[in-house]
Amino acid sequence: MSTRKMRVGILGATGVVGQRFVELLRDHPWFEIAALAASDASAGKVYRDSCTWRMNGDWPAGAGDLMVQPCVPPLDCELVFSALPASVAGEVEESFAQAGYPVITNSRNHRMDPDVPVLVPEINADHVRILEAQRKWRGYSRGFIVTNPNCSATALVMALAPVHRSFGLRAVQVTTLQAISGAGYPGVPASDLVDNVIPYIAEEEEKIERETKKILGELVDGQFRPDDLALSAQCHRVNVRDGHLEAVSIGLKRPASPEEIRAAWESFSGPPQELRLPSAPARPIVVREEPDRPQPSRDRDAEHGMATVVGRLRPCPVLDYKFVLLGHNTVRGAAGGTILIAEYLRATGWI
Ligand code: NAP
Repeated sequence: MSTRKMRVGILGATGVVGQRFVELLRDHPWFEIAALAASDASAGKVYRDSCTWRMNGDWPAGAGDLMVQPCVPPLDCELVFSALPASVAGEVEESFAQAGYPVITNSRNHRMDPDVPVLVPEINADHVRILEAQRKWRGYSRGFIVTNPNCSATALVMALAPVHRSFGLRAVQVTTLQAISGAGYPGVPASDLVDNVIPYIAEEEEKIERETKKILGELVDGQFRPDDLALSAQCHRVNVRDGHLEAVSIGLKRPASPEEIRAAWESFSGPPQELRLPSAPARPIVVREEPDRPQPSRDRDAEHGMATVVGRLRPCPVLDYKFVLLGHNTVRGAAGGTILIAEYLRATGWI
């Protein structure tokens, strides 16, 4: 692999996820920010004048002085990260892939396309093989589209995958308590969230159910075969800044003790750890033993926000076990997860 830093662009750079990209790429050893793009309202302005910086600390040196451009190819970069809203992401991402750019996206538009992988590199790195067929079918020369999962699905599937591999999962019920930042900026009005919980997030339950099965499924003869586990999700917006908490019940195909499930979580790792990718968490799953953990404000930054934190494993009178998990929605569930995918693609020669 070349030691030269790859020049990357960010579509939707002024939003919640776009700013998280800028923050996480600040001193990245393999990538440097070369282009920032957003809507016509921001294009033509210097980045630091186009939006209010909502991450911790100051504007990253360099990025703050870049001119924001429209989300139209060409951009002076070698790959693009997309943090665009679903209303525009589909066509814009296709136009960049057609123009020869690898596109790695947080948007939902292409996740369920039959030739697009939804990648969690610890779990289904082999799904990347579909990209050869994608290029052929779509007539892309160098470009392609890779997606990361929905933020709640990301945290969930990390906790499910090792249990599924070791004991088989027949049924999963998940109830999410999702942070405000998951709705973008400005997102849900404060007057709707203070002293309240909103028991509806548009299309979220369907995304969790579909994407989790695709990730846990197989790629056989150029076709994705989703896993056949029964999965039911219920989603709620709560008054938390960052970090999605999820209450999960699981039914197993083969019996397992709590110690065996904990051991499956604690020993879980995959290609990002083997390849020592810069953003790979040393522990993809962090197990907490305290009765009142994980909590969003205390645990969302575990492994720099790249881990799923699990706790409260106990028997379930309806299914077999229940537990609580937590994932950082804008880090592992969005920008950080997408950067990890790019690192995996670079380490394995796809980009
Ligand atoms: P956001 O805060 O609303 O930001 C949207 C970004 O897209 C802004 O940079 C905005 O630019 C740009 N944009 C809006 N309309 C555009 C247009 N017509 N043409 C070009 N650019 C346009 O949203 P977000 O929360 O960052 O989410 C971005 C994507 O990531 C969404 O698809 C979302 O579902 C997904 N996602 C979000 C999270 C999360 O936790 N927030 C997690 C996983 C995935 P302006 O500032 O110029 O309007």
